[in-house]
Amino acid sequence: MEKLLPPLTHCSKPFYDGCNQNELRLQFCSGCNTYQFYPRSVCHSCGDDSISWVNASGRATLSSFTVVRRSLTDAYEAPYTVILALLEEGPTMMSQLIGEPGRCEIGDSLLVEFVEWGGEIKLPLFRKSFE
Ligand SMILES: [Zn+2]
Repeated sequence: MEKLLPPLTHCSKPFYDGCNQNELRLQFCSGCNTYQFYPRSVCHSCGDDSISWVNASGRATLSSFTVVRRSLTDAYEAPYTVILALLEEGPTMMSQLIGEPGRCEIGDSLLVEFVEWGGEIKLPLFRKSFE
């Protein structure tokens, strides 16, 4: 079995196109000056449809993690660390930590890195940052 790939929809395709160009893209609502992730057709905060795509810094803080020790299928090499990354712009993104599984603490600084996932798609994973 291959890895599961995200569905490319009208809403999500600009995000994954950005990942393939090593850009972490978020939606920004000019109606209420709010960033949002995951992609939606309207602002989650005010309901406005005046949202545009902007590049995020790629910097985040580790807000939660767990180590997966039994993989879903052979396509995933366990153990690996699933994380919640609090992006500098505000939204939280579920991702994986690059590096030794579980070797992290809540509050660690993170930096995005784009990794080949299969199916000609890259996904944004995070690595601990010591800057
Ligand atoms: Zn809004």
